[in-house]
Amino acid sequence: MTDAVITLSSEEAGRLLQEQLKRWPLAAANYHALRLVETRSYDLGGFTIRTQYNPARIVSSGAKTDAKSIEKRPCFLCLHHLPKEQIKLSFRFGEEYLLLCNPYPIFSEHFTIPSVAHQPQEITSRLEDFLRISRALDKYTLFYNGPKSGASAPDHAHFQAVSSYEMPLDGEIDTIQTSRERILIDTEEGSLSLLTHYVRNGFVIRTKSLEQAKRFFYLLCNVAGKGEEPDMNLFCRYRNEMWQIVLILRKAHRPWQYAAQGEEQILTSPGAADVGGLFITPRREDFDKITVAVLRDIYGQVCYNDAEIAEFRDKIMANWHNIKNKP
Ligand SMILES: [Zn+2]
Repeated sequence: MTDAVITLSSEEAGRLLQEQLKRWPLAAANYHALRLVETRSYDLGGFTIRTQYNPARIVSSGAKTDAKSIEKRPCFLCLHHLPKEQIKLSFRFGEEYLLLCNPYPIFSEHFTIPSVAHQPQEITSRLEDFLRISRALDKYTLFYNGPKSGASAPDHAHFQAVSSYEMPLDGEIDTIQTSRERILIDTEEGSLSLLTHYVRNGFVIRTKSLEQAKRFFYLLCNVAGKGEEPDMNLFCRYRNEMWQIVLILRKAHRPWQYAAQGEEQILTSPGAADVGGLFITPRREDFDKITVAVLRDIYGQVCYNDAEIAEFRDKIMANWHNIKNKP
């Protein structure tokens, strides 16, 4: 049973968080601790990666997400397994979702939005829900981790909504348009750009039209996924009646350092937050080990480099030409 059915809005989310901080000591302690976490900023040449030493996140970064481990554990996003202190607000966009306060935050406001049904993590059938949720939560950044791209529950569909501008990506995407973005397709209904020279490269969609957002998104999925959902982290903000969607393609789930032994090990499972430029290290020794070179190495392993991402360009243009010329 959920606690209430709501009309989703930023105000509703803000109220939920305040209520949870009053009623849930674990959440209150973790949000308080977040205000004291250590961070460091690294300049990667015109853009920033910020590291966050956050011991409470060991539950996520260290989570085993292989099929066998997933099968054995109770699903922590299913309604009947949620802690009793958790307020469970439900809403419907296409299908039924829950709005939940994340008790292990990386952001000063951090929500998890699972579907009520226990279904595998995937975006292709839920893109419209994702866009509508983003429009309703217009104060926040909505993101999605592919099942092999940082999701700690690959077996249960979910999104996350977080305070905007805490990931460097949010601010940078507004200002780096000219230097790192190349417009591929520009129509009256919106644009699709290539994002390069950013260590985690991908695509940016800007549009006021839900239909156009879907058209561009599925075009990218067709080109990059060859019939399947490509591994990705997806970000979305809705401002001034416009969606701004950033799709970062992923090459690998984790860097080799994750499984290394001793000195060489760095416990990181990069997800959307890390790809958004907020690099989480739950262990002190890893936080101290980070340098610009280490960051470039890790992002280089899990994301596409400039040349690799540019290779998608011709296929995108050819596919777009076909779509456009369809009656
Ligand atoms: Zn579940």
